Amino acid sequence: MYASSPRAIIRQAADTCNRASPESGPGRRFKKPPPLAGRARNDTIGVWFAALVCSIKHPGENSVHKVIIIGSGCAGLTAAIYAARADLNPLVLDGYEPGGQLALTTMVENFPGFPDGILGPELIENSRKQAQRFGTQFQSGAVTSVDLSRRPFTVVAGKETYETETLIVAAGASARMLGIESERHLLGHGVSTCATCDGFFFRGKDIIVVGGGDTAMEEATFLTKFAKKVTLIHRRKEFRATKIMLDRARANEKIEFLTPYVIDEVHDVNSKSVEKVRIRNTDTNATSELDTSGVFVAIGHDPNTKLFKGQLDMDENGYLITHDGPKTNIEGVFAAGDVQDHHYRQAITAAGSGCMAAIEAERFLEGHKG
Ligand code: NAP
Repeated sequence: MYASSPRAIIRQAADTCNRASPESGPGRRFKKPPPLAGRARNDTIGVWFAALVCSIKHPGENSVHKVIIIGSGCAGLTAAIYAARADLNPLVLDGYEPGGQLALTTMVENFPGFPDGILGPELIENSRKQAQRFGTQFQSGAVTSVDLSRRPFTVVAGKETYETETLIVAAGASARMLGIESERHLLGHGVSTCATCDGFFFRGKDIIVVGGGDTAMEEATFLTKFAKKVTLIHRRKEFRATKIMLDRARANEKIEFLTPYVIDEVHDVNSKSVEKVRIRNTDTNATSELDTSGVFVAIGHDPNTKLFKGQLDMDENGYLITHDGPKTNIEGVFAAGDVQDHHYRQAITAAGSGCMAAIEAERFLEGHKG
């Protein structure tokens, strides 16, 4: 049945637009109409109205987005849920590591609301669906450049160029890895980059922490709450860690220091669990094996902020500097999650800052209407 009255035409057009898949992307709506558009095909006014309603609800490729979110980890997805519920039709650009660090972990037991824990990838998938339910658009691919010198801001991802009134940077930080093949295979299966997230699973076990900075000292000390013994392996005899952190770790009788050593291999990839490591003395090159149940790689994080160099203020380690919550030095650009937080680095704090960024983006748009 075709729409006959103006009210019916509007209702039909809105319906047609609402049923378009959120995955289809904002600009593709008119090039490839959703199946229901066929109902209105013979009704010129209906088609025209569908186009009008869609263009209002979902700006096309060449129009300006209200909010673009860079990154789809906990911070980015929370920002997307809030922005979508505020009717801002956010576009999330997935980035290099879709889902962020949670997508690389196994069980998450400290995210409120999940008494039995939840798998990291499942938490991410759920958040993504929740964001989609309210109309968030997702585009895969990494952002290659941004121009924040004037509004609307320009974001380039692959062959696409987007314009946006506000930008939420939730690109995360990537844990530095040792760079050996077996480590990659066993990540989430005994190899971890987060003591707070995974320490609990190593109660009564012998584990290894790698690194010589403050993070390694902090993680080794924290892990003694659970582990029977922590062996701290560092590639040099000198430590980069601050004296107070080093002294605290040295005073802990559960921590044994092993220097100057590196890990060459983690076993056993076939059984998908950590059983031992092959270590090498960096002075003598002599190798030996060490039994262990877990390896915590604590050799630092790199915030994914290279893109913003010279445009957004950052500290000496590359973390974005924010003020008044998620605000950056550029009005209309907000930062959330690990990209601006090297202190807490938790899923729940990232989610909280994502929420704050979306609320601030909404307020900014409200104040710059017209
Ligand atoms: P970091 O200071 O850069 O230390 C990284 C450590 O990992 C260094 O000891 C480095 O060895 C080692 N390393 C790097 N790449 C390696 C590799 N491929 N193989 C083996 N070892 C490798 O990083 P961080 O400890 O994460 O600290 C980052 C910043 O956060 C620092 O400013 C730190 O003070 C701060 N932080 C503060 C606290 C606190 O105050 N509570 C806690 C954590 C971190 P080399 O020394 O040989 O280069």
